[in-house]
Amino acid sequence: MSDSLSKSASSYPRYHQRLEISSKKSHFVSNKERRNRSWPQEKPSVWIDGRRPWDIEDPTNDPSCSYDTAKALLPSSHPVNFFSLTLDDLKSLLQKMGHSSFRAQQLYKWIYDKKIEEPHEMSNLSKEFRQQIPQIFDFKLPQLKYRSKSADGTEKFLFELRDGNTIETALIPADDRLTICLSSEVGCNMACRFCYTGKQKLKRRLTTDEIVGQFYKVEQLIAPRRITNIVFMGMGEPLDNPEAVFKTIEILHSSFGRQFSRKKITVSTCGIVPEMWRVAASHTLLAVSLNGYDNQSRTQIMPINQKYPIEMLLQECKKYVEFTKEKVTFEYVLLKGYTDQLDHAQKLYQLTRSIPCKINIIPFNEHPNSGFERPDESQIAKFQNYLISLGAHVLRRRTMGRDIEAACGQLTSRKPHLQQSPAS
Ligand code: SAH
Repeated sequence: MSDSLSKSASSYPRYHQRLEISSKKSHFVSNKERRNRSWPQEKPSVWIDGRRPWDIEDPTNDPSCSYDTAKALLPSSHPVNFFSLTLDDLKSLLQKMGHSSFRAQQLYKWIYDKKIEEPHEMSNLSKEFRQQIPQIFDFKLPQLKYRSKSADGTEKFLFELRDGNTIETALIPADDRLTICLSSEVGCNMACRFCYTGKQKLKRRLTTDEIVGQFYKVEQLIAPRRITNIVFMGMGEPLDNPEAVFKTIEILHSSFGRQFSRKKITVSTCGIVPEMWRVAASHTLLAVSLNGYDNQSRTQIMPINQKYPIEMLLQECKKYVEFTKEKVTFEYVLLKGYTDQLDHAQKLYQLTRSIPCKINIIPFNEHPNSGFERPDESQIAKFQNYLISLGAHVLRRRTMGRDIEAACGQLTSRKPHLQQSPAS
């Protein structure tokens, strides 16, 4: 364990530098200015006590050397999954095989831009290279098992992974936006008491191709519509699987690929403080599931708060804002009797007022045996209006997809219910 930890420690700055180099656009600060800042270049304090409490035996566990990158760069007789490779990974792989790195850009364009996976249709590649493609790569995606649609237009996709595990992905239409809610893990170890996914222990973290694959497959299924926003708010805790999550972002952002804007990507975390610098480094938006108005109320429903209490969490949020000049979104689940009273709103305001932020209130979505209730509409409105009267920037998250259990905290890898229809 200590070996892999020291290996991963030395890789963080490198990883960060790579992100710095690849992010040419800077909206608020010059790259020179950014380089001179002390954060997030600092080594994260993930090794405070030698190890992370949530680590489990898992091939994707070592963030210094992701399972799929290692696999891709080692000589192998098996094809490597194309969706696991960043453009840099792809270039090194092809160069090692004696091909020009320009081929990597061409392939990225065919796959992510034109969505063509048949080598014989890749007309600007030599015939010889086209013939080699199936030996080098496979283009396997998660398999769609069920697809269901809510009365409000929200869709839910149940995918089977190569080892038989299943995950869910939601697609939420709103005005001119089409948001995909990606899963990052099968199950989740954070055990937030109000969350349905949290009731299933972590089975394993997803690999990069399984996260990229959710996006790619859904866009294939909904063509010619295109996804406009990405939120990492599906099953799992994205900062418990940072290597795969941030590689996914790099892949989807690539200028030769899908060119997805970083500012349309939100990473939502329960508050794994030592990994939060990565959200800033990737120039994506940060959402933090606050859900409590003080340490006691938060610890009661989110065990992670014992490890990283509110003061540490908010300190990290301030650094994020300072570094990116973006607001943080605080998510706050309204649980009847627990977090929905006006004095709770007052404390929540006091906690967050010094941080440029939005507060996103989410009325609790029920699931069996949760032990919590959703407050009634009048209490939700009172809570929201009181926060607004104090001066907070408050949004209420529209509850979408509740009838098909695709709303916040309702995704699961359990077998589908009867009202869902098999994949078509
Ligand atoms: N692990 C990440 C992302 C997954 S949950 C995180 O904790 O942020 C996405 C959001 O849904 C979080 O803000 C979470 O607090 C909220 N949520 C979870 N279960 C919910 C439920 N049953 N009702 C309403 N919101 C819920």
